[in-house]
Amino acid sequence: MNIHEYQAKELLKTYGVPVPDGAVAYSDAQAASVAEEIGGSRWVVKAQIHAGGRGKAGGVKVAHSIEEVRQYADAMLGSHLVTHQTGPGGSLVQRLWVEQASHIKKEYYLGFVIDRGNQRITLIASSEGGMEIEEVAKETPEKIVKEVVDPAIGLLDFQCRKVATAIGLKGKLMPQAVRLMKAIYRCMRDKDALQAEINPLAIVGESDESLMVLDAKFNFDDNALYRQRTITEMRDLAEEDPKEVEASGHGLNYIALDGNIGCIVNGAGLAMASLDAITLHGGRPANFLDVGGGASPEKVTNACRIVLEDPNVRCILVNIFAGINRCDWIAKGLIQACDSLQIKVPLIVRLAGTNVDEGRKILAESGLSFITAENLDDAAAKAVAIVKG
Ligand code: GDP
Ligand code: MN
Repeated sequence: MNIHEYQAKELLKTYGVPVPDGAVAYSDAQAASVAEEIGGSRWVVKAQIHAGGRGKAGGVKVAHSIEEVRQYADAMLGSHLVTHQTGPGGSLVQRLWVEQASHIKKEYYLGFVIDRGNQRITLIASSEGGMEIEEVAKETPEKIVKEVVDPAIGLLDFQCRKVATAIGLKGKLMPQAVRLMKAIYRCMRDKDALQAEINPLAIVGESDESLMVLDAKFNFDDNALYRQRTITEMRDLAEEDPKEVEASGHGLNYIALDGNIGCIVNGAGLAMASLDAITLHGGRPANFLDVGGGASPEKVTNACRIVLEDPNVRCILVNIFAGINRCDWIAKGLIQACDSLQIKVPLIVRLAGTNVDEGRKILAESGLSFITAENLDDAAAKAVAIVKG
């Protein structure tokens, strides 16, 4: 689960991490009054969407008067901001973050990610902040430093000093950097985050220099949300794929992809294998969908409806290896779905396992034209043949 920049900043503030004074705004009038309240003479108006690259796309504006704050807010709210991360349709801007503008001297990159290779949280930092870390990694990989954290002892002061020194922080900024890194690490651990990215971390101030977090992105482990109430409350469903939100409400595990073969499968492993088989045959899956163990006819109907909400879907591959499930339930569900949803696209069905004969009989006697498949490979080949022909 992702959160907005303003939520990340509010969260970090509770850990003592320095962030600019600011507040969230849902209207241009509110943005203006936030600016007035925080005072000063320059403000930054920032579009809150779950995507990076807002700066280059016009989603981060520096205003020099309250009236300018209001104008930028008015222009951003309700617009679709297109960044290199949103796709061509962009993301609808419904919230803004208004903060006091900072006098930036230099920008750095700071990130905490879980390195799946060594199974540890790894601190990544670079003197090349403000720009995308992927670009830095490609062009000047020597400017990225990494420090692996031992989970048993946590992030140690000397590790922070090593990283800070490597990116060029020194003097009185050194203890600030150590405190900041340790606080972000603690926040990440406490809240079950998978990733915390500060880009930019900046040296700010005209005469008195200090470190400040100017942008923050957090991603949390969905499987830990049950014990993270404050994080769960930050969820913004408007930023998520409506099909995925609906699916999770029905206890279905759905993830939208960009192909045209819809998939309804039981079990995450078999679902992944089905996507592989489709790809192997030269096709492209439209989604991942795991109907889970006890797939009632209602659940199968819901699965069909959600898959068909994607206008790209040209056929549906149903792949069931029934252990806890029963093929007759699946068959009944498919017939029910065909009736209630008036499905126009071909359904390729592969059934195996518990009550398979009964399931096949139900499908055969339904009078509906299902394309049956013997095994996974056969099902994938048939699905690909349909979308290609
Ligand atoms: P992103 O483009 O979505 O990553 O949004 P950022 O919050 O990183 O903003 C992009 C850039 O806006 C930053 O790298 C800063 O260089 C610039 N910027 C200029 N002045 C300010 C300021 O006072 N505060 C903040 N937050 N950003 C500023
Ligand atoms: Mn940024």
